[in-house]
Amino acid sequence: MNARRGWGGVRFTAYLCATLLPVVWLGAVLSHTVTEQVDNAALREGESQAKTLASAAIEPYLDDEQLRTGLSADQQQSIARTTTPLVDHGSVRVLRIRDVGGQIVFDAANPGGPFPHVAREPEVSQAATEGMVSLLTTVGADEVDGSLPNGERVIEAYVAIHANDDPSLVIGVLEVYIPFGSIAAERESSLAQLRMVIIAGLAALWVVLALIVTSVTRRIRSHSRRSEFLALHDALTGLPGRALYRDRVAAALNAAGRMGNDVAVAVLDLDRFKEVNESLGHRNGDDFLRLIAQRLKATLRPGDTVARLGGDEFGLVLPGAVSSSIEDIFARVLESIAAEAELGGVAISAEASIGYAMWPSDAEEPDALLRRADHALAAAKVARGAIVRYHPTSDEFDPQRLRLISELRRAIGAGELVLHYQPKIDVPTGRVTAFEALVRWMHPVRGMIPPNDFIPIAESTGLIGPLTHWVVDAALAQLAEWSQAWPDLAMAVNISARNLRDDLPGWVLNRLANYQLSSSRLVLEVTETSFAADPIRATVLLEELSAAGVKVSLDDFGQGYTSLGSLGHLPVSELKIDRGFVSAMEHSHEDRAIVASVIELGHQLGLTVVAEGVETDAVREVLQALGCDTMQGYLFSRPVPAADALGLIEGINATL
Ligand code: C2E
Ligand code: MG
Ligand code: MG
Repeated sequence: MNARRGWGGVRFTAYLCATLLPVVWLGAVLSHTVTEQVDNAALREGESQAKTLASAAIEPYLDDEQLRTGLSADQQQSIARTTTPLVDHGSVRVLRIRDVGGQIVFDAANPGGPFPHVAREPEVSQAATEGMVSLLTTVGADEVDGSLPNGERVIEAYVAIHANDDPSLVIGVLEVYIPFGSIAAERESSLAQLRMVIIAGLAALWVVLALIVTSVTRRIRSHSRRSEFLALHDALTGLPGRALYRDRVAAALNAAGRMGNDVAVAVLDLDRFKEVNESLGHRNGDDFLRLIAQRLKATLRPGDTVARLGGDEFGLVLPGAVSSSIEDIFARVLESIAAEAELGGVAISAEASIGYAMWPSDAEEPDALLRRADHALAAAKVARGAIVRYHPTSDEFDPQRLRLISELRRAIGAGELVLHYQPKIDVPTGRVTAFEALVRWMHPVRGMIPPNDFIPIAESTGLIGPLTHWVVDAALAQLAEWSQAWPDLAMAVNISARNLRDDLPGWVLNRLANYQLSSSRLVLEVTETSFAADPIRATVLLEELSAAGVKVSLDDFGQGYTSLGSLGHLPVSELKIDRGFVSAMEHSHEDRAIVASVIELGHQLGLTVVAEGVETDAVREVLQALGCDTMQGYLFSRPVPAADALGLIEGINATL
């Protein structure tokens, strides 16, 4: 903006200079014309003086004779009496009488003669025929008396001398040089005044012109700024439009590159806007979009960009976003949109889907990033109300997968998910101390779908949120139901990394309270990868839950890269050795050694060690010998429906 104003200033100055040129030129022309006028007037004046001289001081002394023969002594004297003082006095520089052929017959400066023979001068014959010839000249411009001050401006006038009795008869020519200075002096002063007036007038004109130009320029500039704004912004919401959005993305990437930050680029689409528009009318639809725009801006930080990409689609740019917390921000965005609003007397709330891509990990170029966010939005829309990050595997967006997403969304609400329970057995007593709740999807067409086939989809679409809510709630409801018979029984549930959001502790404790269950009866199984994305956050959240009494178990331990050193700092009270090691230890000494040292290490850190995937008695015996605390596996029971679980406890306990 400032650079533009600077450039405008330069152009304005250039414009003023350009207008100054013609104004100065006009001034020069005017002043020249006026000078010419003054010169002409002086010439006329000189002519009239010369005429007066001829008629008053010369003609009365002459008769009808041509002057070719010269003047008589009387005539010479009479004429010299009046004219010589004029020359002496300086009011006339030269006064000569010539015959019509041009020869001098009298010279006031030398009345007695002799007179030199001179060449014909055209002015003399012209004056003889036309009566008068005059010109403004400088002394020295032609041959005149050398005694005259050279360079003086004079009016050179030639006047026909007429015979005294016969005014039609020209008998000679009077030649006079009248100093221009005396005639022009007073005119010069008025000329100076006139010049001042011209200069002042033109200067005023120029100033007025400049003022007009300034104000017009300013108006044009503000107008063009306004039309530029309109071109780049959406008229309905005042938000940046698609073109500006792309610019903002590019600018955010540039800035982030310098600062070493990440950038999230997201596309948000309202899920049922068409219905709002159709049922409440377009006016209300417009109001609704404006409201959404306001809410989006209010939810995001001032440095973030909200743009309207058209219809019910909005674009977001969040510079400096941290991948692990970005979905919390988007969840808040969806919440703010979902808040009920009154439109045309009807309370409505909107759902939206968000697809996003992170810079630089998902794409490096602005356009690629936007395309990927669009891709992710397609998947998010299928799940509805979901937040989906772009995923590079192409099958992510294949039609079958997309259909599964949309079905899963429905399945969560439609009661198609069920929990199966697998017992965890305390090694010293051989008793069932807990169940692990494992989700299954009873698909109406495909039959039972195992969790490994749909949990990743739920995780990548944001459906993992509602899914985990459902699982925890159902598991706790089940535990509450079993409480009468088994008051100390614990329940383990699996929690995804993406469930580690700020609202998790509050929500979990609320559910426990709801079923009047002591928090120590809940175990949350998290994998090592949950700590990988945002270790500090995961630690803080799980610590809060531990502090409230909830147990945290590190699932599939050994698969990830948790350094044994950092294990002591994690807020976990249980270690579940990955079943890969457990099942392999029967035949591999190395795996056996690994399991032995994990058990040892876990104990030294004060953790309960669980072995999962125990399938054979041989493995059970080795684990028992190594001091493993808890076992879980097909050897004791596969995961079973709730109805079979209680009988299972009795069966297992009875075998002891
Ligand atoms: P996990 O948490 O490690 O669960 C144990 C998995 O090992 C279960 O598979 C279980 O059936 C299987 N298993 C138990 N004993 C044996 C055994 O002796 N031999 C063998 N080969 N397998 C055994 P499942 O039920 O298919 O679950 C697979 C994974 O899906 C789980 O691994 C867990 O990570 C995830 N999962 C299951 N339910 C949920 C859930 O409600 N939420 C989340 N986030 N993840 C879940
Ligand atoms: Mg588990
Ligand atoms: Mg496991």
